[in-house]
Amino acid sequence: MYLTTTIPYVNARPHLGHALELVQADVLARHHRRRGEPVRFQTGTDDNSLKNVLAAEAAGVPVRELVDRNAAAFEGLRGPLDLSFDSFIRTSTHPGHRAGVERIWEATRHDLYQRHYEGLYCVGCEQFYPEGPCPDGHEAPLQRVSEQNWFFRLSSYQDALSELIRSERLRIEPVARRNEVLAFIEAGLDDLSVSRSAARARGWGIPVPGDPDQVVYVWWDALANYVTALEGDDYDRWWVSERRKVHLMGKGVIRFHAVYWPAMLLSAGKPLPTGIFVHDYLTVGGRKISKSSGDAADPVALVDAYGVDAVRWWLLREVPRVGDADFTEERLVARADEDLANGLGNLVNRVVTMVHRFLDGHVPAAGEELAAVPVDEALEAFDFRRAAAAVWTLVEEANRYVERTQPWRQSRAGQEAALGTLVHACRTLAVQLEPFLPTAAARVAAAVAGERLPRPEPLFRRLATAGVAG
Ligand SMILES: [Zn+2]
Repeated sequence: MYLTTTIPYVNARPHLGHALELVQADVLARHHRRRGEPVRFQTGTDDNSLKNVLAAEAAGVPVRELVDRNAAAFEGLRGPLDLSFDSFIRTSTHPGHRAGVERIWEATRHDLYQRHYEGLYCVGCEQFYPEGPCPDGHEAPLQRVSEQNWFFRLSSYQDALSELIRSERLRIEPVARRNEVLAFIEAGLDDLSVSRSAARARGWGIPVPGDPDQVVYVWWDALANYVTALEGDDYDRWWVSERRKVHLMGKGVIRFHAVYWPAMLLSAGKPLPTGIFVHDYLTVGGRKISKSSGDAADPVALVDAYGVDAVRWWLLREVPRVGDADFTEERLVARADEDLANGLGNLVNRVVTMVHRFLDGHVPAAGEELAAVPVDEALEAFDFRRAAAAVWTLVEEANRYVERTQPWRQSRAGQEAALGTLVHACRTLAVQLEPFLPTAAARVAAAVAGERLPRPEPLFRRLATAGVAG
């Protein structure tokens, strides 16, 4: 599977919404790797946006400096969030990106033409709207722009795009998003402006081949990253031969991925992606995430305060497949303490303690198998909350099994049978949990490893009583 996240603008540091998409992608990547499938998990940053230029001007720093600093912060999420991406592309520094964008431009030249254009531009969205204010909620007034631009004959691809999505050769999840895209396409597609004046872009971006007064529209440039990052044999391996090519994204950018991007590829005669998974947005304390959200929306600050397991677990266990989710630190703490410290941590601790008390630490043969965990199906439907809940049924099942069998009241043979079952369940949990909580899964695996178990140690600190929440 070739799996990508969107590449965010780097006009600011990463926030919790970026962490959500990266963690979701990470779960899929780890899940498919564990099943023995080859996976390439790719993320990166969109360095060439006009938005970055304006943010740098507002901050009074050179564009290059602002872009480098924020792109490093995005790449730096890897450690704190336990991400396993294989490739990180920056559109302003990746050696093959500019040449790749130019190649796609040339390959679509038969669909490009010049036209005078006047429109209202939202820099926040980097797109034109027929009227203000910005439907996505950007507060800055739309700019009236009048210039000669390059246009792409998007209108020619209406039927092909509609067929692509209806046939599910390009599968869009959830289905409400698919219907939204189909309605947009079938209402009729206008041609798309795909360049900007270089002067308006302050010279930042990729010049249009043969027309240096224009730069390539940043979305065209950014979308191309999914193939320009694949150099040499990697392009054939991951874009031509690979059966599953899946893009993850937030609901705000679906039109770019499900309409413009496949049309560009159709025009260029290149293979198409096979899947698009759309997540909704996070709010923090009931408000849209913004600079004023501060540390409450800073994934690294949250990991520093509460640990990576608690942060990943909240994102996976609490965020629904459809509908926005509201994050608060109190909810994160409550969820982590209930599930991780009380549920999982307590279970493993009890089991290991009993194995030491009754069997001197020796692990008996596995008894019966507790409930199977139907994670695959939920992840196939890109439903992370359902997948996380599925893993959790095994924790609950194992805790109920302890209450039901009460190993401390059993004969030696009964204790061996019950504890064999429970150790086996904990080992299964460590395996099932790995895509979701890789570090916690490693601790669980170590706690129940070998023929003679190590001494029990607490696996999770209790966050509420630790006072971090204050
Ligand atoms: Zn906007």
